[in-house]
Amino acid sequence: MAFVGIDLGGTQLRVAVADDRGRLKTVVRHPTEAARGRQHVINRIVDAVAEALKEDGTASGRVRALGIGLPGPVDPAAGIVISPANLPGFRNVPLNRILTRATGIQSFLHHDAHLAALGEHRRGAARGASEMIYVTVSTGIGAGLLLRGELYAGAHGIAGEVGHIVVQPGGPLCTCGNRGCLEAIASGTGIARAARESARGTPGSALHGLEHPHAEDVARAARAGDELATAILENAGTYLGLAMGTLVNLFNPQLIVLGGSVIKSGNLLVGPMRRSMRASSWKASRRGLRIVGPALGDDAGLIGAVEYARLYTRHARPA
Ligand SMILES: [Zn+2]
Repeated sequence: MAFVGIDLGGTQLRVAVADDRGRLKTVVRHPTEAARGRQHVINRIVDAVAEALKEDGTASGRVRALGIGLPGPVDPAAGIVISPANLPGFRNVPLNRILTRATGIQSFLHHDAHLAALGEHRRGAARGASEMIYVTVSTGIGAGLLLRGELYAGAHGIAGEVGHIVVQPGGPLCTCGNRGCLEAIASGTGIARAARESARGTPGSALHGLEHPHAEDVARAARAGDELATAILENAGTYLGLAMGTLVNLFNPQLIVLGGSVIKSGNLLVGPMRRSMRASSWKASRRGLRIVGPALGDDAGLIGAVEYARLYTRHARPA
C-alpha cells in the first residue's frame, strides 16, 4: 500500500507518493497559482496527485490515505480550511471532503507547521522526544507542539501560534492586526521592516540607501561588523528568546527544534536569543533541554503530511 502527502503553500504545491513505511518515492512540484482562486488551486492539487501517482506507477486504489498540510488557520478535526492569508478564496472550505471525493482517497488536512513538527518527530531531529516544540523563523514564524508524543492542536486546531505571542505591547503592527507580536519583530519580514525604518536615520550604516533591505542583507551587514545591523539582530534574538523562555516555562520541553532562514543569521541572533531565554525561564524548566536544528529541511512538511496520513489510517478516524 501507498500514502500521499501534500505540502500546499501560498507559492508552491508539492505532492509526494510514499511507501507503506512512509519513505518518499516520487515528488512532483508545481506553482500554487494561489491568486487564481480556490477552485483553480483545488484542481491543481487533484491533477498533481494524479500526476504523482502516474509517475510512481501506483493506482489510486492502492493508496490508503492522503495527508495535506497548508497554512493556518485550519480545523483539522472538522477537515475545514478556515482562512489562510496567502490562499485567497479559501474561507471555511471542507477540503477533506472535497479531496476525498475528487481523488477517491481518504484525505486528512492539518496546519503545515504542525505537520513539519510531526515530520521531525517521526523521522527527523526529534525522534523519541515526547515533549517537543518545533519553531521555524523565516518570512513568518511557524510552530508546532508535540505533547506526550502527540501533536497538540488545541480545541479548534489553532494551538501553537508562537509568532502571535505579544512580546512588546504597543510594538510594530502585525499582519494579524495586533501590535508587538513576535512575528512582527523577529521574523524575516519584521527584521526587514526594522532595517527599512532605522536605516533612514543612520547614514553610516551599510543598510542606509538599500531600497528594500531583506533579512539576509541585515545578517550579511551584521557579520561584516555593521552596528545598526547587529543591533537589529540582537533585538530580534532577544524577543525570540523571551517567547522561547515563555514556552519553556509553560511546557517544560525536553527538545526544541529551531530552524528557518532567519536562524541561519547565526550567533549574532542566536546568542542574544539564548541569553534572553535563560533570563525569561526557570532553571528547573530548562533542565535537560536541548535545542537542535531541523534534520529534514524543506521536506519536513511533506514528510509530516505522509506521516499524518499513516497515523490517521492506524487510528481509523473518519474525515
Ligand atoms: Zn500577530
